Amino acid sequence: TDAHTTGPFIAAIDQGTTSSRCIVFDRDGRIVAVDQKEHEQIFPKPGWVEHDAAEIWTNVQEVVAGAIDKAGITAADVKAIGITNQRETTLLWDRNTGEPVHNAIVWQDTRTDALCKELGRNVGQDRFRRETGLPLASYFAGPKARWLLDNVEGLRERAERGDILFGTMDSWVVWNLTGGTDGGVHITDVTNASRTMLMNLHTMEWDDKIASSIGVPLAMLPEIRSSAEVYGQVKGGVLDGVPVASALGDQQAALFGQTCFAEGDAKSTYGTGTFMLMNTGDKIINSYSGLVTTVGYRIGDQDPVYALEGSIAVTGSLVQWMRDQMGLIKSAAEIETLASSVEDNGGAYFVPAFSGLFAPYWRSDARGVIAGLTRYVTKAHIARAVLEATAWQTREITDAMTKDSGVELTALKVDGGMTSNNLLMQTLADVLDAPVVRPMVAETTCLGAAYAAGLAVGFWPDTEALRANWRRAAEWTPRMDADKRDREYKSWLKAVERSMGWLD
Ligand code: ADP
Repeated sequence: TDAHTTGPFIAAIDQGTTSSRCIVFDRDGRIVAVDQKEHEQIFPKPGWVEHDAAEIWTNVQEVVAGAIDKAGITAADVKAIGITNQRETTLLWDRNTGEPVHNAIVWQDTRTDALCKELGRNVGQDRFRRETGLPLASYFAGPKARWLLDNVEGLRERAERGDILFGTMDSWVVWNLTGGTDGGVHITDVTNASRTMLMNLHTMEWDDKIASSIGVPLAMLPEIRSSAEVYGQVKGGVLDGVPVASALGDQQAALFGQTCFAEGDAKSTYGTGTFMLMNTGDKIINSYSGLVTTVGYRIGDQDPVYALEGSIAVTGSLVQWMRDQMGLIKSAAEIETLASSVEDNGGAYFVPAFSGLFAPYWRSDARGVIAGLTRYVTKAHIARAVLEATAWQTREITDAMTKDSGVELTALKVDGGMTSNNLLMQTLADVLDAPVVRPMVAETTCLGAAYAAGLAVGFWPDTEALRANWRRAAEWTPRMDADKRDREYKSWLKAVERSMGWLD
């Protein structure tokens, strides 16, 4: 607890992929208290990833209570609460009992591969991209909902009777916070809706033709609202009565938290996966380089702000895999010590295509490879290759951004759990050949949700006031020579080629 801060405060919930957390912020955007809890990652089959939504809701309640307790405050001190969440993760639940009908299908899950291929053949790739901004890929929510309707017995009937609700994790958390079966509000915001493959990017409404081609009944979809407005009040718990005033997908929240409010502003967030977003203002820019067109945010009844996104499925989760599945390190931070014990990667390149490859390739048939192995290579070289994988994947995204937008990268604003890794940040500056800057508050995801909620209730007057809070904490400048960079980039691209075509 920061003894210098006095209320009132804004709280934010980040329902993330590996954990849920709640952070309390003061008017300067400083962290007053944090509480966090991990939830189980369920891997029923290769390529499948699930979460227990009931466990997640329990954790959310605990971290909210925990953060409020650590801050030493009560509901009366909290002007609003905002939500940010892992995107695309899909849940169906019974509106009468509040019970999930199945585990949530996580964004990384590839079980809808075949379904997406079939939709591509029957409806056409271009149609989806034109209306929703998204490539047909197992990543997005709509096809996951269809999978549940096809595979949980009796579910389609119940859905058609109107007993089943669809939601990404924002909807699940907001519905439960506002009372659940006792009058819970069933909403989603434009940023989360833009990841379902069911929302028309031009009208900002559910697209009934697209929804029926995917096989998702409109009756179960939440109402689409802006990212910053009061949806309802918390019912019960330590924050009883507090307005629930924002919802943003985690990456859009980070864009907001990094105060990327001007066209051309960009950020990249290094967590489980990595996501770079560039604000494109009121322009819907169609990508020809494998990026995703998405909603950046919408504040109340103002015009929506769009964004171009480069999504990378596996970055921090590769470090987790080294720790949990391979047992080569004991903690995520140890990857830096191990990688620093050698000068270079010893010729090894690691393409972590565990969930296929996202941007710029969108190849669900790709799987992970380690290329360039010789007898010389040690686990330390592999650790280095693990960190470099994050840097090279980012380089491919920034190249695509430059192509699509015509804007050269001058510096990259970064955040997320992996940015505490100095070697990684230096490598990133080296392979991008651009400075990398990290703000004082690295928890930009929660901060963005807090900012949006605070704007909605007038806690902050406007985005200018938020921009004044942004402060640089660290900067890394490039020091790799151009020849070396080009040579290594070529090797990386060769390794990427090797990862493709494992599945048909
Ligand atoms: P998320 O919000 O996606 O759950 P976080 O922003 O909390 O993710 O970041 C957690 C991720 O960062 C984990 O995947 C973890 O492996 C990785 N990570 C944490 N610390 C380090 C570190 N020092 N070096 C490399 N990776 C790290």
